[in-house]
Amino acid sequence: MSYLVLARKWRPKTFSEVIGQQHVLRALINGLDQDRLHHAFLFAGTRGVGKTTLARILAKSLNCEKGVSSTPCGECQSCQEVDSGRFVDLIEVDAASRTKVDDTRELLDNVQYAPSRGRYKVYLIDEVHMLSTSSFNALLKTLEEPPPHVKFLFATTDPQKLPVTILSRCLQFNLRRLDIPQISGHLASILQQENIEFEEQALAEIARAADGSMRDALSLLDQAISFGAGSVTTEHVHEMLGSISQQQLHNLVAALFNQDGQAALQQSEELSAQGRDFKKTLDELLVSLQRIATLQLVPDLEESDSAIETASNEQLTILSQQIPAETIQLLYQIALHGKRDLPYAADPKSGFDMTLLRMLSFQPMSIDTSNTVTAPNAKPQPVVKPKIEPQQSYAESVSEPKPEQKVAEQTPTIEAVEITPEPTVVNNNTIQLNSTNWLDVTARLKLTAFSRQLADNASFVALEDKTISLAIAPEFAHLANDKAISRLQAALSTELQYDVKLRVQQGETQQSSPTLATERAEQSKLSQQNAKDAIHNDPAVAALKSAFNAEVIESTIKPI
Ligand SMILES: [Zn+2]
Repeated sequence: MSYLVLARKWRPKTFSEVIGQQHVLRALINGLDQDRLHHAFLFAGTRGVGKTTLARILAKSLNCEKGVSSTPCGECQSCQEVDSGRFVDLIEVDAASRTKVDDTRELLDNVQYAPSRGRYKVYLIDEVHMLSTSSFNALLKTLEEPPPHVKFLFATTDPQKLPVTILSRCLQFNLRRLDIPQISGHLASILQQENIEFEEQALAEIARAADGSMRDALSLLDQAISFGAGSVTTEHVHEMLGSISQQQLHNLVAALFNQDGQAALQQSEELSAQGRDFKKTLDELLVSLQRIATLQLVPDLEESDSAIETASNEQLTILSQQIPAETIQLLYQIALHGKRDLPYAADPKSGFDMTLLRMLSFQPMSIDTSNTVTAPNAKPQPVVKPKIEPQQSYAESVSEPKPEQKVAEQTPTIEAVEITPEPTVVNNNTIQLNSTNWLDVTARLKLTAFSRQLADNASFVALEDKTISLAIAPEFAHLANDKAISRLQAALSTELQYDVKLRVQQGETQQSSPTLATERAEQSKLSQQNAKDAIHNDPAVAALKSAFNAEVIESTIKPI
């Protein structure tokens, strides 16, 4: 039995079979049907998202013997030649291997000649940004006065490297990376037609690994089919990809958060026994933490795309409600460092274990257990799946977060390791904003990056007639744009529970009411000084100084 790889066998042959890229399809279809097709298209996008496929269908649409339309017949000789990659008037060039001007000249010399078989010549120049300057000049001449029988399709992963003169003569489309449901849905439909059994979760894992590229997804699917001897199961896919299952990931996050070192290292042991790739595991852990952070701060953004994602989302949502945002930020930071340092570790597993241990040792600092309040009507935590045991112990040990720490009120721009200061005013229904509590109040506002900058660099002047006046130093005046002001105004209105107006005037920031930024600078100066004092007073340093005539390089002292 001859076996045709899936990517070739299932390459879309008509526009209606193309997955995603609807905005590009619409332009091409309308152009073809109204016979008003632009002569040069630029497709920007990563690999495997359909550039060559679109070029082939376009070549077919223009050259079908039944006439130009967006629905070529697929049966005439021209259509069949295009489908089998033998059509002489579809000229595919990989600019990455053809950067010399001579090659481009030779190519463009032929542009003038009429097509040999069809109505139109279609040039597909892949990685067009790799052409040399002189090649671009030669190309530009052709683009300025294109022969009527020529269509250009340029593809690039890096449109910014193209000269603006070329860009301005092309109709540009950004081909999007395909999302997980688009890819897994397509894989499912192929497998059904191929009569191959599969688990949906397995396809989602393949789609995730393909990172937006349908071609990569299909080639992974090929491998998964032969790996699983004819069926595609989640277990096989994990084994094949060396990846960790969502369940294992959630167990890991739960173990870390429960301070259960034994469970965390046991997970690591299990992953090692299964031959998982620890760098990939850290990547997956980073993605999970990022999704938890998103769920905490912008819950509307993280919507489940499909039934497959929903189960995993539910578990993440539960974790996101239990784990303080600061902890997630800290774990993320440590995981990122762990990934960076992994190549330097004695072996990947010990590097991974060390990262877990670091997460366990730093974590307690972010949970202020002495202050936690047990909510009177704490709802029982929903049980996700029997495998996550830590759920229970976590619910018992940490209980509900304090009201002011609740997810809804967390600021979206917290520093990675920083912990939002304890607000001075809690639980009162109305807050009297003044210069004393301005920093505390702004610190806990939920703000976007720009409004956060404004809030951090503005000082409080007065609150009169529901109008808050702020001052901002001239060098930061650009931060006070309309958008930032209206965001900050909305956040303050929410915080104060009545509508306020915000006025930001340029001027010296008040001495009596420092800005958060100056306060932080003060703080960091202070801790720097403390660090210097600590070093200079350290007996070990003193011993080194006297024994080796050593000197302390002050600039290298960093506060812990
Ligand atoms: Zn045809």
